[in-house]
Amino acid sequence: MNRIAKASGADAESAKKQQQKLIRSLKHQIDMLSQFIVRTTNFYEGINTTLDPELKVLRGHLGGKANFALAENSISKLTGLMMQHSDLIKTETQKAMTMLEASVKKLQSKENISADVKQDILQLLPTLQSKSDSIFASLPYFEKAMSLYSRALENGSVEVDEENKAALSSSSASLSDSTTAALHEQITFELRELINQIGNKRKGDKALKEVSKKLLKGINHQELLECCLVIIKAILKDVIDERKHAENFIGELHKSLIAANKSVDESKTQAEEQFKAKMESNQRLREHLGDIELAVEKASDLSWLKDEANQYLQKMAKSVDDREQVDQQEQKMLMALLTEMQSQLTQLENEAASYKSRLMEQKYRNQHDPLTQVPNRIAYNERIEKEYKRWKRNKEPLSLAVIDADHFKQINDNYGHAAGDKTLQVIAQHIEKGLRVSDFMARWGGEEFVVILPQSRADDLIQPLEKIRSKIEKLPFRFKNKNVTITVSIGATSFSEGDTIESAFERADSALYEAKHMGRNRCVIF
Ligand code: GH3
Ligand code: MG
Ligand code: MG
Repeated sequence: MNRIAKASGADAESAKKQQQKLIRSLKHQIDMLSQFIVRTTNFYEGINTTLDPELKVLRGHLGGKANFALAENSISKLTGLMMQHSDLIKTETQKAMTMLEASVKKLQSKENISADVKQDILQLLPTLQSKSDSIFASLPYFEKAMSLYSRALENGSVEVDEENKAALSSSSASLSDSTTAALHEQITFELRELINQIGNKRKGDKALKEVSKKLLKGINHQELLECCLVIIKAILKDVIDERKHAENFIGELHKSLIAANKSVDESKTQAEEQFKAKMESNQRLREHLGDIELAVEKASDLSWLKDEANQYLQKMAKSVDDREQVDQQEQKMLMALLTEMQSQLTQLENEAASYKSRLMEQKYRNQHDPLTQVPNRIAYNERIEKEYKRWKRNKEPLSLAVIDADHFKQINDNYGHAAGDKTLQVIAQHIEKGLRVSDFMARWGGEEFVVILPQSRADDLIQPLEKIRSKIEKLPFRFKNKNVTITVSIGATSFSEGDTIESAFERADSALYEAKHMGRNRCVIF
């Protein structure tokens, strides 16, 4: 019994020891956990400023003599905040990935990047669409994109020299600003249009050709400024040439007028002298007649009178001869004057005709696209103004269509720019063929055309536009021994109450956007 009591006393002792050991171990674990939490909160400090104050509070509760009741409260607050933060990180990461995808696509659109960079871009792009939620998981993609950009830079896709590196770094920084990038693109587009207008006339201008190539490839801000300068110089040359032509024409006109004036002056002096000679000859005739009269009065002998009369008649005949000579001279002089004036006039007429045809040619050039020979945007603006006024006045239907070649960039990329140019010419011809004489088409720019359809309601549009679309789709293009199908997307609309030219155009453009969105090669009418 005593032994039993002894034994149970020893058991209680060992259980107590066991319990104390357990408590010590638990305390140690809690200390470790608290320290770990404190260290973790230190590590996360600065990642999100809204979490920082609460992390500090939690550290206070767990550091030194821990207060778990307060710590629990703080942890539940932090849990809420962290959930919000994680949602934010998800959306921000997705945004960053979308931006990354757009900038890699932009790099892909550059023409002079090497084939291996292109290949790597093609591999990277689909992986970017998987849209990682974690900022850390997305970092390798950023690394890959940065390395592609730096390889493209080394390849010379964006040529940088030491002097303008600084300028470029600031320009590329501002390029990330989407409005600057849009402006850059707009200016590039406008410059291409300007070159289109002056390029035809200045075919031999190498600098202009170079600029035209660069603009199609894509350039940085610095180069864009240089291109502006080349184009301004070309326009200036054009203006100076034109002025020279106008000066020559006016100079010729002036010379002809002076020559005509001189001829008239000389003829006037000669006519005055001849008039005087005629008067003198008349006077002499009168005197001879007076002498004959006197001789008749005095005459008593017929043979004497005969002699006298004969003498005077001979003198009169001489005066008449003299007079006839003067008349002939006068006639000659008049004929010479008329011939001279006629030749001056013919010369002037020729000059004016060549100047007029030059002006007509200039007007044609100003209003037509040199590549496709269809009217350009200047002509469109002029025409739509007229049609819009007519529509407002007469309230007769008026419609607009925008036609854009599908995936045109790929034509250039796969078969070269010459093939792209040829395609544009053929597309333009077929749009024109499909229109009525009262319709009007223009090249809006790039691979885009705009059509004005007077007297057409929205319901009347689908048939002619669908005909154009299907005709282009069936054209047998053949590049690099391959049959190629080219398609266009068409957006169209009819002017309705309250519309401006711009609002109707924007609506047609939105319809085009919708057609692209729906899979291209279709007509959408809004
Ligand atoms: P989408 O179906 O969305 O319209 O695609 P897309 O490739 O046609 O459109 P995007 O605007 O990306 O590219 C248009 C291309 O048209 C880029 C440009 O190089 C080309 N382009 C514009 N003007 C000319 C030109 O005068 N000649 C040639 N050959 N290409 C041109
Ligand atoms: Mg297109
Ligand atoms: Mg386009």
